[in-house]
Amino acid sequence: MEYKCDLCQKIISGGVLPYSKHVEEHIIELIKIKHPKWVEKDGLCRQCYEYFKKELSGNK
Ligand SMILES: [Zn+2]
Repeated sequence: MEYKCDLCQKIISGGVLPYSKHVEEHIIELIKIKHPKWVEKDGLCRQCYEYFKKELSGNK
């Protein structure tokens, strides 16, 4: 099954990380600030998840 990450516009197949309970609330908040049109239903890929996770810990 193919999945398009709305944040980086990449098509990912296999090993995707659509939005799930693993994604912390703070990460979702940060993504919404940078991507106002994004909603958690859209999901995100692992790369974006890691990116925002890093961003979050670096911006304290
Ligand atoms: Zn992505």
